[in-house]
Amino acid sequence: MRYRGRDLGGEGRVHLVMESTLTARDRVGVQDFVLLENYTSEAAFIENLRRRFGENLIYTYIGSVLVSVNPNKDLEIYSKAHMERYRGVSFYEISPHIYAVSDNTYRAMRTERRDQCILISGESGAGKTEVSKKILQYYATTCPVTDHLSTLRDRLLQSNPVLEAFGNAKTLRNDNSSRFGKYMDVQFDFRGAPIGGHILNYLLEKSRVVHQNHGERNFHIFYQLLEGGEQDLLSKLGLERNAQKYQYLVKGCCPRVSSINDKNDWRTVRKALTVIGFHEDEVEDLLNIIASVLHLGNTQFGEGKNGENQITTEPQLKYLSKLLGVDGAALREALTHKKITAKGEEMISPLSFEQAVAARDALAKAVYGRTFTWLVVKINQSLAFKDDVYNSSKGSSSVIGLLDIYGFEVFQHNSFEQFCINYCNEKLQQLFIELTLKSEQEEYEAEGITWEPVKYFDNKIICDLVEGKHKGLISILDEECLRPGEPSDISFLEKLEDTLGGHAHFVTHKLSNGKTRKAVSREEFKLIHYAGEVNYSVNGFLDKNKDLLYRNLKEARLEFDEALVRHQVKYLGLMENLRVRRAGFAYRRHYETFLQRYKSLCPRTWPNWQGRLADGVATLVQHLGYKPEEYKLGKTKIFIRFPKTLFSTEDSLEA
Ligand code: ATP
Ligand code: MG
Repeated sequence: MRYRGRDLGGEGRVHLVMESTLTARDRVGVQDFVLLENYTSEAAFIENLRRRFGENLIYTYIGSVLVSVNPNKDLEIYSKAHMERYRGVSFYEISPHIYAVSDNTYRAMRTERRDQCILISGESGAGKTEVSKKILQYYATTCPVTDHLSTLRDRLLQSNPVLEAFGNAKTLRNDNSSRFGKYMDVQFDFRGAPIGGHILNYLLEKSRVVHQNHGERNFHIFYQLLEGGEQDLLSKLGLERNAQKYQYLVKGCCPRVSSINDKNDWRTVRKALTVIGFHEDEVEDLLNIIASVLHLGNTQFGEGKNGENQITTEPQLKYLSKLLGVDGAALREALTHKKITAKGEEMISPLSFEQAVAARDALAKAVYGRTFTWLVVKINQSLAFKDDVYNSSKGSSSVIGLLDIYGFEVFQHNSFEQFCINYCNEKLQQLFIELTLKSEQEEYEAEGITWEPVKYFDNKIICDLVEGKHKGLISILDEECLRPGEPSDISFLEKLEDTLGGHAHFVTHKLSNGKTRKAVSREEFKLIHYAGEVNYSVNGFLDKNKDLLYRNLKEARLEFDEALVRHQVKYLGLMENLRVRRAGFAYRRHYETFLQRYKSLCPRTWPNWQGRLADGVATLVQHLGYKPEEYKLGKTKIFIRFPKTLFSTEDSLEA
């Protein structure tokens, strides 16, 4: 699998981890779905997951793809001894584990000198973030590290609690749900030591700052500060140690969560900020902003003597002005008035009560969103590869990237937030198809390998529908936001109908015969995604598009629910992937690379093979005992179905 990506800086390999939520007990099954007898049966696939899960075997391969089932309890499988067991051992010789994927990725990066990427995908609560942390821990523990680099290693690990404090929250589905997407690069030098890192953050759910659904919380940091912050600090910030006092923290009616210890987490975060390199004054700024968001939430408006709308909570205004370092009068005016320019003249007009509340909330979201971005910038500065500290690796470093975004969502009411998230997942699925189904089959064809094509649904048609230039849904939305006149959510919907009506994956209430379709309301459009159909309400699309992403609605469910597991198996494309894997070849290498690496294993190819490369490779694999049906010779590459014998020699070759 190969991936060309901006962030990988060239051609590299992509490794996939598919997370899945499942809880049940049964007996052990096969450790690689490729070995499943009834490999075309979805029921057999799910049964295998269930059996393994019953034995606490949460990992199963489909070739080089790892399927993981969240155990929701601590399993004794992540110790240092486990890490050592997986170090340098072939994928096929030890039971499936995230450490095997981590180690394989690392070794591939080193031996092939190419960038690598691990994609982690699955629904909310499936375990994506936990697995990304386990991968980082594996590298932090097993990679060579010098004194200089131990600081970087600590910073890499400590970036997680900080990002989680500010970017994760309790939802109905996950007590530690990531409310932002993350792509993290770890940079290694020529000796395989980590020398730098970089984080790209996507789509923070800012709407959570001002609103949470019942049973959900705001971002963890607010509760951590109130529970764990020293009394002096809270006094300075004008805060009380009681989350119930803050409007922005009471909406979800659940200030405490049994699985979360906010006080301890506060200590962890404070320590992590120091390890990452935040100065005390920077931490102070950060906490001032967090406190000011809480004060903003408690800022109320009411009618003044002359009927004007005014701020009725003076203490909040005083703290806000102090903590944000802005003039009190200017702040008062900004929260109750708006500036408009008409005919070249600037005019100030008062805001209505509703407008003032909306402006206050918008300010709180913007302040929090920008603080999060600043936090990521600061973390990146602290993780940045520093030439002056370690310049001998200049020009010879490689990266391993980890992608952890949120999964596909369908609720009873879906809006712009779900649209963005589902589009992200549509793109991720496209990449998965590209890597595991399309390019794999195309390569067999290009190499002249006899191959019975496996049919699969290519979701490119839906990606194009959303992102197509001019005629795509996002282009139409952007255009409508910029159009002079009075663009509205409904005029946007009408534009969509005009442009996309008749598309096989786009549906509105209008039927072609002039009648109306009941399943879609007049304010909705339906997209037929690869993972299922979703009705989106256009209400708020224009406003939200101008302000990037908001996301709010969460529902209770979506324990073991076989329908849910089946849904994930389907939408992650696991059955198609298995069919391609089962019929295909797990390993392939260019003849020259292969001969160079393994020629010492055969007296006839050592020290040098004189003759056609393909003949040399054939001689070598026959000497290693591969039967004709176990490998194929393509135009430029050798393909091996299950390269067990080959990989068992890797250790001796490395030595
Ligand atoms: P979201 O999309 O909401 O961010 P996620 O896929 O990142 O969800 P995690 O936060 O990684 O989900 O996992 C949810 C919870 O499940 C964790 O807080 C932890 O309690 C449990 N969990 C996940 N993976 C494991 C594991 N390998 N072992 C034990 N518990 C786990
Ligand atoms: Mg997560």
